[in-house]
Amino acid sequence: MANGNQVTCSFCSRPVSEASFMVVGTDGRICERCIPGVYRMFEERGTVPSPSESNSPSTPNSKKRFRSEQFNPRTIKAFLDQYVVGQDHAKVAMSVAVYNHYRRIGEIAGGPAKSTSNNDIELEKSNMLLIGETGTGKTLLARTLARLLAVPFCIADATALTEAGYVGEDVESILTRLLQAADYKVEAAQRGIVYLDEVDKISRKSDNPSITRDVSGEGVQQALLKMLEGTIVNVPPQGGRKHPDQKYIALDTRNILFMCGGAFDGLDRIVARRVNVQSIGFRAMGDQQADSVKRSLLSMVTPVDLKQYGLIPELLGRLPILMHLDPLDAATMQLILTQPRNALLKQYVQQFAAEGIALDFTEEAIQAVVQHASELKLGARGLRSIMEAVLGKAMFEWPGAAERPDRYTVTEIDVDQGIERAGLNLRQAS
Ligand code: ADP
Repeated sequence: MANGNQVTCSFCSRPVSEASFMVVGTDGRICERCIPGVYRMFEERGTVPSPSESNSPSTPNSKKRFRSEQFNPRTIKAFLDQYVVGQDHAKVAMSVAVYNHYRRIGEIAGGPAKSTSNNDIELEKSNMLLIGETGTGKTLLARTLARLLAVPFCIADATALTEAGYVGEDVESILTRLLQAADYKVEAAQRGIVYLDEVDKISRKSDNPSITRDVSGEGVQQALLKMLEGTIVNVPPQGGRKHPDQKYIALDTRNILFMCGGAFDGLDRIVARRVNVQSIGFRAMGDQQADSVKRSLLSMVTPVDLKQYGLIPELLGRLPILMHLDPLDAATMQLILTQPRNALLKQYVQQFAAEGIALDFTEEAIQAVVQHASELKLGARGLRSIMEAVLGKAMFEWPGAAERPDRYTVTEIDVDQGIERAGLNLRQAS
């Protein structure tokens, strides 16, 4: 865009005289401030160029990364810290598990871990089970790890799966997704990471094995066993149901890392019963106190509790690393909104900057956003709903408009008005 005689950035209209660096294309320009924002948008949509095409530090070349002396559980955690707020227990457990996994499969300098005295010892896979309420960062942790390791990654939903022969997706469809994420490179897919969400929803309905078939629950757990442990699976490359005439790609799942996640609503009560804590007062407690009791109960979860919840022992045996994620309190929500490298607030600031508008929030406005988001009980996901409600009108009306401000400072009143407009005011509704 040219502003009078000035050459300007086509995204934020900053004149070239004020930019230290500008990339010029055939039909436009982009300044050094807007480039990271555009990159982050690609990251958010999961369409960042593959590591072989990119020199970005956030998508390192996996081979180099693994071979580096710097690759250890502490550096893995430090990377997670840049994107995921809090959840320290989970980050530490995950960093160790991932390090051991890639050590086991011989990706790390020094080759596979072997016992020098007894080569018969075979190290088990470090598949993980992540327990935590919705929106607390389970998927984000898995996705961030895959980004650090630069390995193919896919997310699958356990509730869509059924036992072979029934209506729904076969468990092999998970691997179709992984193959697609790996651009059909079998070698790469075989070292990838799968995040299987909502595993709590495939728990069997009671702890007693039933005589009737449980197609959506136990049957799916059974179907997952071999895949999680490591086997050769014939994967339909385009997904869909298996049929005899189809060509399959054989995928060895021995080195694929599976992370299963779920909210496991009510698991805290099972733990409370086991450790003999009276849960009578739960409902009488304030939100904060209840969260802290829940947090300490979930830190004591054992496979016995999960068995009682409805996961079959064979599946639990294949998910040896258990970790829990804490519910998010207001202080953590505020950090999530403002601090991580691709924090939501920074993303909106960037989007407005691309329209030439400097966006900022007063301290009170940020607190109001956090408070309303906490009331939605969607974890950090609620932050996006509130931000959309608050900024939606401006994002609709200002792009391309002749009259628009250079700066927009969002106040507490703007937040409240946005919430009203979107009908998200839970206090009034209740
Ligand atoms: P779930 O636990 O349901 O898998 P997600 O990981 O998908 O939740 O998180 C939902 C949204 O909230 C994501 O956009 C993520 O960026 C954000 N989020 C959740 N927890 C955190 C956290 N601890 N740190 C930073 N962002 C978070």
